[in-house]
Amino acid sequence: MSYDAPLKGLKLSGEEKNGIIRRFAGTIRFPTISMPEDFSLEPFHDMRDYSARVWSKVFSVLEMELLGGASILLKWAGDPSLEPVMLAAHQDVVPAGEHKHWSHDPFGGEIFRNRIWGRGTIDYKCGYGGMLEAVSLLLAGGFKPRRTVFLAFGHDEEVGGFHGAKAITESLKNSGIVCSSVLDEGGYIYSESDGSFTAEVALAEKGYASFRLKADAVQGHSSVPPDRTAIGTLARGLVALDDASMSLPDIPGGISSSRWAATTFAPTILSAGHKENVLPGTAEAVINTRPSPGSSVAEVFEFIHSIADPLGITVELLDNASISEPSTVSSRQTGDFNALETSILHTVAPGTGFRCGVFPAATDSRRYSQVAKNTYRFLPVHLDRRGVGALHSADESISITDYLMCVEFYAEYISRVSSEG
Ligand SMILES: [Zn+2]
Repeated sequence: MSYDAPLKGLKLSGEEKNGIIRRFAGTIRFPTISMPEDFSLEPFHDMRDYSARVWSKVFSVLEMELLGGASILLKWAGDPSLEPVMLAAHQDVVPAGEHKHWSHDPFGGEIFRNRIWGRGTIDYKCGYGGMLEAVSLLLAGGFKPRRTVFLAFGHDEEVGGFHGAKAITESLKNSGIVCSSVLDEGGYIYSESDGSFTAEVALAEKGYASFRLKADAVQGHSSVPPDRTAIGTLARGLVALDDASMSLPDIPGGISSSRWAATTFAPTILSAGHKENVLPGTAEAVINTRPSPGSSVAEVFEFIHSIADPLGITVELLDNASISEPSTVSSRQTGDFNALETSILHTVAPGTGFRCGVFPAATDSRRYSQVAKNTYRFLPVHLDRRGVGALHSADESISITDYLMCVEFYAEYISRVSSEG
């Protein structure tokens, strides 16, 4: 099979491109699934052994630290007097779900119709493989970074990064290292309704908080309902919340115009009643919110209160480990951002738009932001109309063109950004 996507800057033969695709497909065959409870680290160790074999030069030249059980921190040393820079990708994937929904084995790394199929192809092994491949190509070309480059590969991002990204962050902190920036996932090439594409760098990510809304009423016989029932009251509150949207905070860089920039309120759990002729004494709902940058969990709490209080609905913040505040907004006025923007514009197809936005979910980068002055989120992969919603679905796949574009992008970005400053 031959792959004709042009690696413009790298000038690779068809044979070399075949090798690039084959090495990447190999990573998909390791079921590196993370779970909220204990999960096996065996597939991670196997994938690391495999990676050290197929990208042997990377693992022999760069210094490796194994952290938090199965997370990897690779250091490509440059001038120690200059600020280092970091790129991050997580090795873990979400479970495949029922295999019958897949048209290809989710852990088969199959190549079919110019796509590589399987869990993790987009989220986020294209980053893991793409960065290793890029460094391998740069090493083969004799490239030496002026500034130190760190590659951080966490192993439990999908369940909060409590071991991986946390341990990597602690290790850098203990060494007194602060990077000028970290590049992580969270920005993509989005399909627009007019058929065009826009590359979006997310300069911020939203927070996370869930609230329980509870309406009480007198439990009784449904033949004589009172004016206000528990379900009716709760429903009024939910509709009011659905109609209201918090005023957009002032976010620099034109981010506010991106679709998911505003705080969102999503009702996710609803419960009330147990018998058809009995009025329930309580009705409850859980609302999952994503506070936008510039807002806060406390502000969202206040806002829900302002709608629920007049209706007599109580509000409670669900106190769990997932609560997070929205991130700060990273600067566009840095050399690293320039290197990123230039690399993106050189890599994506002509005619692709460019903008800055907000990532609606949370990533490992909220931990890395403790050791990096700015956080940029981008991955040169085309998402279909479902956008970010497609990431954890069945039949996850990446086109060969997009994967080669990842490799080319990372090679250009690493060479540019490590020469900055
Ligand atoms: Zn991810």
